[in-house]
Amino acid sequence: MDSCIFCRIVSGEAPAQVVYEDDELFAFEDRHPAAPVHILIIPRRHIVNLAEATPDDAALLGRMAVLAGEIARRQGIAESGFRLVTNSGRHGGQSVFHLHWHLLGGRHLGWPPG
Ligand code: 5GP
Ligand code: ZN
Repeated sequence: MDSCIFCRIVSGEAPAQVVYEDDELFAFEDRHPAAPVHILIIPRRHIVNLAEATPDDAALLGRMAVLAGEIARRQGIAESGFRLVTNSGRHGGQSVFHLHWHLLGGRHLGWPPG
């Protein structure tokens, strides 16, 4: 997907502050952080959102969750707490249509979200 900004970040065509990468997953700092720690965790492969994920993606999604915990520990927010959230579709507030999980922490996060 040439037009997808996250595919361009994964391929190195667009810059990002990368915090993790392997053959399947990629993580980088959000350009407009909503918290002291705000990292986006994405699959390298272009999946639109969770509504489009299939049972074949189950292992990949599991790896994304485990990686979120690992990054939280490395960022020093595991003990204080954090939030992992994905926005899917219009009502979910999704603005980039390449599946991503927001890892947020470093401050108290309100609930419910707006
Ligand atoms: P969404 O609204 O789809 O849940 O989240 C998209 C997120 O991607 C937003 O938090 C936005 O700040 C971030 N974002 C959009 N474009 C870029 C970019 O080019 N680089 C980085 N690092 N983050 C981006
Ligand atoms: Zn993409």
